[in-house]
Amino acid sequence: MKKICILGSTGSIGTQTLEVVQNLPDIKVIGLSAHRNIDLLEKQIYQFKPEKVAVMDEQEALRLRTRIQGLDVKVLAGMEGVLEIAQMEEAEIVVTAVVGMIGLRPTLAAIGAKKDIALANKETLVTAGDIVMKAAKKNGVSIYPVDSEHSAIFQCLQGNQMNDVQQIILTASGGPFRGKSAEDLKMVTKEQALCHPNWNMGAKITIDSATMMNKGLEVIEAKWLFNIDLEHIKVLIHPQSIIHSMVEFVDGSVIAQLGEPDMKVPIQYALTYPKRFLNPYPKLDFMQRNTLTFEEPDLKTFRCLFLAYEALQAGGTMPTVLNAANEAVVARFLKGKLSFTEIPKWIEEAMEHHENIKHPSLEDILYIEKWTYNYLESRWKA
Ligand code: NDP
Ligand code: MG
Repeated sequence: MKKICILGSTGSIGTQTLEVVQNLPDIKVIGLSAHRNIDLLEKQIYQFKPEKVAVMDEQEALRLRTRIQGLDVKVLAGMEGVLEIAQMEEAEIVVTAVVGMIGLRPTLAAIGAKKDIALANKETLVTAGDIVMKAAKKNGVSIYPVDSEHSAIFQCLQGNQMNDVQQIILTASGGPFRGKSAEDLKMVTKEQALCHPNWNMGAKITIDSATMMNKGLEVIEAKWLFNIDLEHIKVLIHPQSIIHSMVEFVDGSVIAQLGEPDMKVPIQYALTYPKRFLNPYPKLDFMQRNTLTFEEPDLKTFRCLFLAYEALQAGGTMPTVLNAANEAVVARFLKGKLSFTEIPKWIEEAMEHHENIKHPSLEDILYIEKWTYNYLESRWKA
């Protein structure tokens, strides 16, 4: 029996992970965490009977504790609680499905406790890829990608050598505004940005997909997961989201991974690697999906992708600023307080005002994250 914990079990990836677990033999969930959605967490407790759960919001943790009195489940609170779930002794794998760089400390705690990681929380690698990958190496733990593109690349690399890789081709749907001009984007509403053509995801990543920041974050995620430089990573728009990504080898061979757009497949692979299990999820029908098309990304209109390239090239704490600014700006966009075209503008301004720290420690990264939020807050107050 493989025991797992899920951080962010109430989110889009978290709930799909629980669906996957239900369909797999020999996997038991022993720890769950949420931010404040205790209604759903309570249902998950009754259904999956974990030993411990953590609720980030301390008030909500108290409420949950009273609600489930009498059940044999420990309810922990705050970041300390999430860290305890991340390090549960019997857990073999920790699924990191929280959103944002708040996932960094729990991920490092899990790695320190020698847990393998099924990583959905890409912001953690964007902000502190060097530190996370070194910690994983030092502790001998594996990081299995959940992000569909990275799972695809991971699958294409099986049985191959990194030395033989010419380039990684990360596919991108292009989001709801593919083909639009900078002028068109000025009129975009929050509702339109929240409507992704192919994937049903949490709000933050849906906006990231609309700005194409998501692909920028994924380029940085790929750099760290596969130890590959930007010159060997190519982003290709593929609106149908059937090819989840590809690897081109030095001999010109290209290996691609295909499937219906369904996160349950990469989640399952991360949990069962190297084995594969039968599942009931929709299978690819080539006669229905008989047109696969490709385009170059438009870096001028979708400046967030360009900014991510810049941040990756600058290295040091620049990706931390990119990511933290994006988190702050997207949260503000979701509150209706700024327009869609302002998103890259504020991120770029924060990056321009940042003095890069070339080889940051964890403390530097957490400090620069705060600096970024403070910088933007002060600009928004002005
Ligand atoms: P959701 O917003 O749907 O879920 C986020 C989860 O994290 C929820 O359980 C939420 O709890 C919890 N959470 C939010 N804020 C905090 C916090 N401050 N402290 C602790 N927990 C918190 O996000 P997604 O599932 O869409 O995305 C999760 C991660 O996976 C992201 O990094 C995303 O980029 C990545 N990813 C997602 C994909 C998808 O298809 N959704 C695809 C590929 C990657 P609560 O419900 O209580 O608020
Ligand atoms: Mg992805």
